[in-house]
Amino acid sequence: MSCSKRSYLSEELAVTALLEVRSRFETNSSVTVYLCEDCGQWHLTSRGTIHPKLTALLQSGEITRRIEAGHWERKLR
Ligand SMILES: [Zn+2]
Repeated sequence: MSCSKRSYLSEELAVTALLEVRSRFETNSSVTVYLCEDCGQWHLTSRGTIHPKLTALLQSGEITRRIEAGHWERKLR
């Protein structure tokens, strides 16, 4: 069984993707990852408790820095 949502083979890959989308898309509201009972793979979700790695990244200002870096990349193109 597969889901329409984007899925990841491992928790690690899903968390990496979570940090990536939050860095790239300011409007993205994903906060954590979960193991799907339907497809047995990992998805991002905007529900639940914010993932500790994401918390750390937000607190360090790294997300803001990456978003700003993204703005520059787009302007320079
Ligand atoms: Zn699924």
